[in-house]
Amino acid sequence: MDSYTLLERLCNSPGVSGFETPVREAIAELVGPFVDELRVDTLGNLIAVRRGRSGFKLLLDAHMDEIGFLVQHIDEQGFISVAPIGGWDQRLLPSHLLTIVNRAGRRIEGVVGTQPPHILKPADREKVIPLEELFLDVGATSRQEVREAMGISIGDPMVLHYPCRRLGRETLAAKALDDRAGCAVIVRTLEALQGVDLEATVVAAFVVAEERGLIGARTAAYQIEPDMAIALEGTAAADMPGVPPTRRPSIQGQGPAITVADNSFIAPRTMVQALERTAEREGIPYQIKTPSYGSTDAGAIHQSRGGVLTGVVSVPCRYIHSPFSTCRLSDFDHTWRLLTAFCKGATGVGK
Ligand SMILES: [Zn+2]
Repeated sequence: MDSYTLLERLCNSPGVSGFETPVREAIAELVGPFVDELRVDTLGNLIAVRRGRSGFKLLLDAHMDEIGFLVQHIDEQGFISVAPIGGWDQRLLPSHLLTIVNRAGRRIEGVVGTQPPHILKPADREKVIPLEELFLDVGATSRQEVREAMGISIGDPMVLHYPCRRLGRETLAAKALDDRAGCAVIVRTLEALQGVDLEATVVAAFVVAEERGLIGARTAAYQIEPDMAIALEGTAAADMPGVPPTRRPSIQGQGPAITVADNSFIAPRTMVQALERTAEREGIPYQIKTPSYGSTDAGAIHQSRGGVLTGVVSVPCRYIHSPFSTCRLSDFDHTWRLLTAFCKGATGVGK
C-alpha cells in the first residue's frame, strides 16, 4: 500500500476520543502481518509487538483518537446539539458536514446549520458562533425520526465528514492528520522492519484519548515498561501568510520535526542528538520544532514509573484541528524512514 492510500484509509476512519473502534480495526488489520503479537488493552489501546534479540524495549506511540463531538440533545424538530470533545476552534465549524456513527456503526451525515445572513442583526454578522449554539441538521423532521429511523442516541460520536483528497502533486488534505499521520508512520515503519534482525524489541502502541488528556499513552507506558520511547505526531505547521517565524512550530517540506520542548515535555538532549545523528547518517532532512507549542503523549510517557527516555518526531501538518489538515507525502516518507533507521540502531545503549 502506498503512503497516500495508507493515510487516506486511516484519516477516513472515524475515531473520536473514547470511540476509536473503527480506526483501531483498520490499524490492526494493517499491522497484523508485520508483528509477532497484537492485543487490545482495557482502555482500547492497540499494542503490537515486534520482537528483537534483546530485552531492550523501544516504545513507538501514536494516538488514534481525533477531536469530534457527541450528540448532546435532540430537539422536537430533529435538530441535534453537540458537545465538543477535544480542542475545537469554534470559528471553523458553521456550514461544514459532520458524520455521526450510531451504535450499530451506521454513518449518518448532517450539516452544521447557520442562520441566513438576511435575518441577522448587523452586529451578529461579525460574531463567532459559540460551540454551544451550534446545531446539526440531519434532514429529519422530528425527534422521533432521528431516534427511531436514523438510530441516533444521546452520546453518539461524530467527526468531520470530508474524505481525504490530493492537492497538487504531493500534498494531501484530510481530517485527523493529527494523529493519523503518526499512526501511519508507525505502520510503515513496522512494514519496513519485516525480516530485519532487530536488537531492540519494538512495541508499537496506538493509543486512545490523547485529546482528552494523554490518557491511553499513560496506561500503555505503564504496562509496557519501555526503556526508551518515541511519540509520533502530526504537529502544527504554520508556514503560511501572516505568521512570523517565532510562531511557526514547523514548516512543510523540511522533513520530520524533532521536538526539543513543548508545553508537556522537555526532550533529553541525548534523544534529540540520537535522532539528529540518525537523520544525518541516513541523509534524511529534518528540522527542530520551534519551542514550545502544543503537547503530546510524550508528556505522559516520560513520567511513567521511574521515568522513560523519550523523544518526539512529527510530520508537519497545516490546519490541524480543522475540517481539512494537509501534509506533504515527502515529509511523511522522510519521517517513517527516520523512525525505521532509529529502530534498527536502538541497541540498548543509554539504558
Ligand atoms: Zn496529536
